[in-house]
Amino acid sequence: MPLDQYRNSRILVTGGAGFVGSHLCERLLTEGAEVISVDNYYTGTRRNIASLLNNPLFEAIRHDVTFPLYLEVDAIFNLACPASPIHYQRDPVQTTKTSVHGAINMLGLAKRLKIRIFQASTSEVYGDPVVHPQKEDYWGNVNPIGIRSCYDEGKRCAETLFFDYWRQHGLPIKVGRIFNTYGPRMQPNDGRVVSSFIVQALKGDPITIFGDGGQTRSFCYVDDLVEAITRLMLTPDECTGPINLGNSSEFTILELAEKVIKFTNSASKLIFEPLPLDDPRQRQPDLEKAKAVLDWQPKVPLDDGLKETIKYFKRVLD
Ligand code: NAD
Ligand code: UDP
Ligand code: UDP
Repeated sequence: MPLDQYRNSRILVTGGAGFVGSHLCERLLTEGAEVISVDNYYTGTRRNIASLLNNPLFEAIRHDVTFPLYLEVDAIFNLACPASPIHYQRDPVQTTKTSVHGAINMLGLAKRLKIRIFQASTSEVYGDPVVHPQKEDYWGNVNPIGIRSCYDEGKRCAETLFFDYWRQHGLPIKVGRIFNTYGPRMQPNDGRVVSSFIVQALKGDPITIFGDGGQTRSFCYVDDLVEAITRLMLTPDECTGPINLGNSSEFTILELAEKVIKFTNSASKLIFEPLPLDDPRQRQPDLEKAKAVLDWQPKVPLDDGLKETIKYFKRVLD
């Protein structure tokens, strides 16, 4: 798939100062695009994009996507939204507003400009899945009134809006359902499992296993995800998604903890804490559609990705 189509185009990345967004901005600049990051720095930081600020093709705007935004761009990647449970549960009303009002504003912008728009959706639309692995035609098992609902239902409503703008206004949309992704530039304190375990192991603190650690997740390294997202945007208009993006290698949380301890040479002990409410028992993407449509598959095994991420956190914590 020729990514040189990005050359000389102006791309808006909302959530551009976040973990995934900053890697995406960097990648688009490498492909020769002009990139505008829009972020309110709620969970992202200017440090994530500091190395890009001297690039004349990069621009960073402080803005909250729940308010209208008027810019002239050629495509939009809509990533703005807190993603870790402790961050999205801190101000749940704002989380729903960001997903829903943010989607409406970015779709309005895309509609005015008649341009493509990508939505960073999530495996959380499947909730605590009773179908395993999850295929895109599974409608999910989501609690509409629980503590995760602001995020899960917000993202589901955003998908509804994307498909209604597509049906009603003929807007070219790209909906990617992202499964657990990790890598450098995750926030050390965001409570997500990979960042938490690495920080705990490096500090010699106890590793906090929620529940019995038998629940599973499938972890994707950020470079693999960014490759998939950049390809998805360039697919023909009929490729709307939703399309699963992630890595299908599934691990228990206990296995993850053991790997982190081994790769950090840590003396940390495991401690067991209560499982948060509505915590999904298992999660694994079916990637057949992504492989066929994007001619892509994740390349980075968990061991290699963890080692890279550990290097990053060693630098951050020093
Ligand atoms: P992140 O929290 O690092 O990044 C989100 C960014 O959005 C931050 O920079 C934050 O400041 C910004 N933001 C939040 N609310 C905003 C608002 N109202 N206006 C403007 N900016 C706002 O999280 P991430 O892991 O990089 O996730 C990026 C996107 O991918 C999110 O939409 C998330 O839901 C989605 N996603 C991520 C994962 C994952 O495992 N990382 C999995 C599924 C979906
Ligand atoms: N919008 C925006 N930038 C634009 C165009 C629209 O932020 O360039 C916002 C606008 O504030 C509106 C939302 O997008 O609330 C949805 O726009 P749309 O045209 O779909 O709806 P309408 O304006 O008719 O309500
Ligand atoms: N988890 C854990 N200890 C932690 C943080 C998370 O055992 O310190 C577990 C959590 O209960 C969940 C899994 O790890 O089962 C993934 O959690 P994360 O918050 O990273 O992502 P999500 O639940 O949204 O997939």
